[in-house]
Amino acid sequence: MTGRPGSTGRTGRGGGQASAGELLELVRSGRAVTRGALQRTTGLSRATVGHRLDRLFRAGWLREGAGGPVDSPLGGRPSITLEFDDSHAVVLAADLETRHARAAVLSLTGEILAEHSGTLVIQDGPDAVLGELGRWFAELLEKAGHRAAEVCGVGLAVPGPVDTETGRVFQPPIMPGWDGYDIRGRMARAFTEHTGAPPVPVLVDNDANLMAYGEQRAGHPDCSAFVLVKVSTGIGAGVVVDGSIYRGIDGGAGDIGHIRVGAEAQCRCGSYGCLAAVASGGAVARKLAESGVPAASGSDVRDLLASGHPEAAAVAREAGRMVGDVLATVVTLLNPGVLMIAGDLAGTPFLTGVRELLYQRALPRSTAHLDVVTSRLGERAGLIGAGALVVEHLYAPERVEERLLALGV
Ligand SMILES: [Zn+2]
Repeated sequence: MTGRPGSTGRTGRGGGQASAGELLELVRSGRAVTRGALQRTTGLSRATVGHRLDRLFRAGWLREGAGGPVDSPLGGRPSITLEFDDSHAVVLAADLETRHARAAVLSLTGEILAEHSGTLVIQDGPDAVLGELGRWFAELLEKAGHRAAEVCGVGLAVPGPVDTETGRVFQPPIMPGWDGYDIRGRMARAFTEHTGAPPVPVLVDNDANLMAYGEQRAGHPDCSAFVLVKVSTGIGAGVVVDGSIYRGIDGGAGDIGHIRVGAEAQCRCGSYGCLAAVASGGAVARKLAESGVPAASGSDVRDLLASGHPEAAAVAREAGRMVGDVLATVVTLLNPGVLMIAGDLAGTPFLTGVRELLYQRALPRSTAHLDVVTSRLGERAGLIGAGALVVEHLYAPERVEERLLALGV
C-alpha cells in the first residue's frame, strides 16, 4: 500500500486484524454490508466488529441502510444493512482548462450540489487563478447551502503533467508560469481567505487522469483496463487499471500528446512534429483558419463540428486518423476493454478517423473486445473524477485511523 494520493489501497480479507478503515472500505465497496458479513469477511469477533463500527457511527461516517433489514444468507434474524453516510461532509472540485474552468461542490458520493463554469485564464498564473477559484468555491458553498467547515478536501484537475506527491506540475507546455508552483498551498490559502475556515487537504492531478477516473467509475466500473484520451487544446490520456489511476513512476503515463509523429509543425512544448501539434483541437483550428474557416480554438472547432461544417469534419477526421495511429500502440501495449475519446473533438468524424487507423494498425487480439466510446459525463468528467479522488484518498483504510483520532472517536 502506498501513501500516494489517490491510491485507494483496496484491502481484502483482514486476517483478523481488519481496522475500522478496512471495515468502512468493505461497506463502501458493497462487499460486506451487514455486521455478520463483516465478521465473516474479516474473521473479527462480533465484539470487535461492533467496537470498530461504533467509532465509524460516532464519526458520522456510517448509517443504517434506508432499505431496512435484509435476510441473512445463513438464515436466522434479518440483518440491518450498513451504508456510508455521505451527509457528514462535502468536497470541492475544479477542472481547469486553458481559458475556462468549471468548479463544483460535490457530495461524498459524487453528486454535484452546486456548479459554476466561467472564464479563468491559466496564463494569468497560479496565484491569480487559484485566488479566484477560492472566491468561486465560497460562492458555490453558499449556493449549495453548505458551510465551509463541512468541506473535507479540494480536488483540482489541471491540463499538465502532475507530480501527485507534491501536487506540482512540471514543465507544463500549456500552463506557462505554473512550473513547480505550490498549487496545494495556494489553493488551501485561497480557500481559507474566502471562507474563513481552516485549510483542508488539496489534491491535484492531470485532467485526463481525473476524467478517466470519473468516467470509469461512473460508466465502466467493471472494466479493469480503461483508457481515456482527451483531445482539446492539447492531447493527453488517462489510464485506469483495476480501479486506480495508473500514473507511472513520475506521473508521466498517458502523456501521448508529445509523441513524435513526424510532421513539421512546432508544438507548444518547443519540439517539432508532436501529435498535439497536428491533431489537437488547437491544431485543427489552425488548419481551418489557414483555409479561411473562422476558428481560433478547440472550442470553436467543437461548435463547427456540432453544426455539421463539412470542412471541419474532414480536418477532424484526419486528426482522428493521426491519433488513431498512436492509439494503435497504446491499445497494443495495454489491451484495454474501453477506449474513450473525450474533449472538444470527440464526435463522429474524429471517432471515425480514430477507428480507421486503430483497427488497421493494432493486432486483432488487442481490439477484439475493445469498445471505442465517447464520454458519458461530458464536461463534468474531470470535476467528478477530482471529487472522487479526494474521497478515495481521505477514506482510504490507511488514512481512516488518523482521521478518526483527530475527530476524537
Ligand atoms: Zn510537444
